[in-house]
Amino acid sequence: MDHFCYHNGVLHVEDVSVEAIAAEVGTPFYVYSRATLLRHYEVMRDALSGTDSLVCFAMKANSNKAVLSVLAAAGAGVDVVSAGEMHMALAAGFPANRIVFSGVGKTRAELEAAVRAGIHQINVESENELYTLAEVARGLGKRAAIAFRVNPDVGVDTHEKIATGRKENKFGIDWERIVPLYQLASGMPGIDVKGIGVHIGSQILDLVPFRRAFERVRDLVATLRASGLKVERVDLGGGMGIPYRRNINDQVGPEPRDYGALALEHFRGMGLQVICEPGRLIAGNAGMLVSRVVYIKKGETRTFLVLDAGQNDLIRPTLYDAYHEIIPVHQADAGAPLLPFDVVGPVCETGDTFARQRRLPPLEEGDLVAFATAGAYGAVMSSTYNGRPLVPEVLVSGDRMAVVRRRPTLEEMTALESVPDWL
Ligand SMILES: *Cc1c(COP(=O)(O)O)cnc(C)c1O
Repeated sequence: MDHFCYHNGVLHVEDVSVEAIAAEVGTPFYVYSRATLLRHYEVMRDALSGTDSLVCFAMKANSNKAVLSVLAAAGAGVDVVSAGEMHMALAAGFPANRIVFSGVGKTRAELEAAVRAGIHQINVESENELYTLAEVARGLGKRAAIAFRVNPDVGVDTHEKIATGRKENKFGIDWERIVPLYQLASGMPGIDVKGIGVHIGSQILDLVPFRRAFERVRDLVATLRASGLKVERVDLGGGMGIPYRRNINDQVGPEPRDYGALALEHFRGMGLQVICEPGRLIAGNAGMLVSRVVYIKKGETRTFLVLDAGQNDLIRPTLYDAYHEIIPVHQADAGAPLLPFDVVGPVCETGDTFARQRRLPPLEEGDLVAFATAGAYGAVMSSTYNGRPLVPEVLVSGDRMAVVRRRPTLEEMTALESVPDWL
C-alpha cells in the first residue's frame, strides 16, 4: 500500500492528491497506481525467474486499457477469458505469443478468433471443446497450441463463489480423463498439445492447497512423460490471496517469493515453461474507489453513512461479503474517536451496504472516503443498475494523472437502445 499514503494530511496516490483528482473528475471514481501495478508484476516475475516462466495477468480482474498497457510494456503476458478480452488485450499491446485463453464455455467463434490470432495457448476445459477446437483449426489450416486444464480436486479455504478446484465445480477436466485425452489430442491434426494447467480458486491465503495442486500436476507430468507424451508447459493458474485488512496478520496472503519458491521446487529443471495467472495479486492493492459522503443519516439504532458510490460500482461486499478498508481522504486527528457507521450506497437494494458498524473517525457530509484494495474485481464488475453511469477510472504515475476511462454522458448511456416503430 506504500503508493497510497497521506501527505500533509491528505491521501495521495503516488504524488497526486486524491482530493485534487476528485475536484477534477468528480466522484465516485477508481484510481490506480502505475508504480504499484509494476511492482506487483515484477515481484511475481522475479519470484519465478529461476526457470523459463511467463506471468500472465488475469485481465478479468482489471481490463482497463491503460492498466493493461502498463503491464504489456513491462513484458507481462495476459490471461483472457473471452474473445472480447482477447481483443482488448491485443489492442492494449500484448503480443499474441503472450496471450493465454482460459474459460469453460468458449464458443466456436471465440476459438476461431483465438486460432486466427495465433495466441500462445488455449486452455481446453472439456473433451467437446477439444473436438470443436480441432475442427476449427483444421478448417483454418492452422494449429492451435493447447493445454488441458485439469481439475485437481483440491479444496481451498475461500468464499464458495470463488473456489474452482473441486470435482463439483464446473471448471477443468476430471483427473482420470486427462491421460487418454492427452494421448488422443497428441495425434490430432490441428492440435499442438503443450501441457497442462490448473486454477484452484481465488483469494487463497495459504500455500498448502497450492502445494497439493502442484504435487498433483507434477505427478501428472511424470505420468504423461512415462507414456511417451511430450509436456512442455505447466500453467499454475492464479488465486494468490492479498491482504484486504490492514493490521490483521492472519489475513495476509502468501508472499509471491514463497509462492515462486514452491513453484520452482516442483518444476525447476524439468524442461518446462511455468506459466502463472495472477489477477488480484497484481491489481488488487493497486487501486481504490473514491466516493463522497452524501448524507449522514442518524437512525434510531445506527448511523448511516450514505455515499455516492453504490453496489453497482463495487459489488464485492454484497456479492462475496468482501471486506474493504474505508479510509478518510482527509486524515483524522491523532486522538479522534472511532464511531460505528453503517456505510451504504444510494442503490435501492438492502444489499447495497458496504460495511455494517464499521468504526470510522468522525465524518461529515461532503467528505471523501476511499475503499482500499479495489483495483481487482472492482470496475470490471460494475454495472449501470439504477441508471447510474459507470464511474471514471484514473491512472497515476508519479505526479502525473490521466482519466483512462471517462464518465459516459447520459445520452451515451441510452445510445444503444431504441424503441420499435410499431410501438
Ligand atoms: C480468475 C482466474 C485467474 C485469476 O485469479 P486471481 O485470484 O485474481 O489471481 C487466473 N486464472 C483463471 C483461469 C481464472 O479464472
